[in-house]
Amino acid sequence: MNRDPLASGVTTDLLDVLIVGAGWSGMYMLHRCRELGLRARVLEAAPSVGGAWYWNRYPGLRCDVESYEYSYSFDQSLQREWVWSERFPSQPEILAYANHVADRYDLRRDIEFEARVNAACFRDDECVWEVTASRIGTRRARFLVMATGALSIPKKTDIPGLDDFGGTLIHTADWPSEPVDFTGKRVGVIGTGSTGVQVIPVIAETARQLHVFQRTPSYSVPAHNRPLTEEDRTRTLERYDEIRHIQRTSAIGTLAKPVAKSAFDLDDAARRELYDAKYGKGLAFELMVAFEDMLINEEANRTAQEYLASRIRERVKDPAVADILIPKEQFVGTRRICLDTGYYETYNRDNVTLKDVVRDPIRRITREGVELASGHIDLDTLVLATGFDAMTGALLAMDIRGTGGVRLRERWSQGPRSLLGLAIHGFPNLFTITGPGSPAVFSNMFVSIEQHVEWIADCLAFMQQHGHSRIEAGEAAQEAWVGHVSEVANATLFPRDKHSWYLGANVPGKPRVFMPYVAGVGVYREYCTNVAKQGYPGFEFA
Ligand code: NAP
Repeated sequence: MNRDPLASGVTTDLLDVLIVGAGWSGMYMLHRCRELGLRARVLEAAPSVGGAWYWNRYPGLRCDVESYEYSYSFDQSLQREWVWSERFPSQPEILAYANHVADRYDLRRDIEFEARVNAACFRDDECVWEVTASRIGTRRARFLVMATGALSIPKKTDIPGLDDFGGTLIHTADWPSEPVDFTGKRVGVIGTGSTGVQVIPVIAETARQLHVFQRTPSYSVPAHNRPLTEEDRTRTLERYDEIRHIQRTSAIGTLAKPVAKSAFDLDDAARRELYDAKYGKGLAFELMVAFEDMLINEEANRTAQEYLASRIRERVKDPAVADILIPKEQFVGTRRICLDTGYYETYNRDNVTLKDVVRDPIRRITREGVELASGHIDLDTLVLATGFDAMTGALLAMDIRGTGGVRLRERWSQGPRSLLGLAIHGFPNLFTITGPGSPAVFSNMFVSIEQHVEWIADCLAFMQQHGHSRIEAGEAAQEAWVGHVSEVANATLFPRDKHSWYLGANVPGKPRVFMPYVAGVGVYREYCTNVAKQGYPGFEFA
């Protein structure tokens, strides 16, 4: 057999594992496959590694998880040698880390860049996946791992007239690599989720006029970002093992854990003091899960809603503007709380206006700007911070066909169905990393990604040892898991947030199915580990 299909130009050669995506998941999956002695390759649409951190390069972008927690833990020397400079790392620093990892493990030699996968078809007779990608054509592999990310396909913006806009139009998830100059410009930003909250204050600093078009306000906590000192670093390194253990067994993959069973175990003053302590240190996740009943009990959650609303009123000078910025009938934590640097204070500037597009809807985009019900706003630049087709978008953007040619788009027409968020009935030898039905977006993604990659690698090793060449999620086990995921969600406040992208509600026509598993990454990890220990019940081998 030819050992290198690329070097020879032969595209029919059979790989063991084909991985789609060179973000955190794809890079680590490749590394683990090599350790197992498997011939693996990665196909990546971008010209370099980094996934979401490659494409999203808008000014102000930082991670909302602290740097030493948002990094690989699989290699002690890697986690000890990389020096993070800030508490919440910026996009350029995170991308530099991704490149460092790619170089350190010599990953690039097995990654084909600028190869966007369009289709993947399972050949039953050969038990082989045939994958087609732009620029490079077809690749064949025994196993296919979708490391395509949960937030990698920008949502198609459903505002009429977008193509008519004559100025500069930019989506935050497809930001130009050259710096964008807003100096002296009239700029509009649509969207006030985590992305909008980060990009708005930066644009406001140089734009002549910034108009923010808000449909749904977010809860946000000041990041209190700062440079890290040598002392911070030493302290982290000393207890890194303990930090990693807490992350893996926690609810959301961070150090955040509840301080009491119920918000009402504390009196009003003590609860306010606790919220102040979290808010004053940029501990958004700790606030989100401060009490065990925070995401279960409406009244407990209301204490945090009222607290955060009072903070918005303090930070915004004009009470009418503050009122627009305060979320109404929205739970704290059923959407990730944003971390900001000067977000609310931005609305105190003379060059910034806030438009509530629920009361004053956008009629259409015109050549010159945005037409609201109340009149026209002229713009030079329009920035879309309108979010993603989350969790299923990247998978369904490809034409994936399983046994008997069945299409994933058909199978998931009523919403995603997956066993553990890792495998799909009807699609043998295909794994998804952080797929729907796993904690994924409701966690520190690094913790979830490492756990998935390691589970898949262990499963491949198990198959090697037992001489299996085919694995498929059993239908009954899959349906039981799907039922369990929604049963867990239904016991919380999550599904009551009817407009959330966790439910697919941000994309017109997308089935409304609550996608993440919210029992906690620790609980989920234990479940997955037990499945592996017991010889993978629910999965069918051949
Ligand atoms: P998002 O949370 O979905 O926010 C999109 C915003 O655009 C919402 O305010 C949405 O309003 C608005 N929007 C969408 N279509 C609109 C329309 N047609 N007219 C008016 N407004 C419209 O997306 P995101 O801000 O990109 O964040 C997504 C996720 O990415 C986050 O939850 C987080 O997990 C991740 N992220 C993380 C970081 C970080 O680490 N700090 C930074 C950025 C993103 P509606 O809610 O009304 O639809």
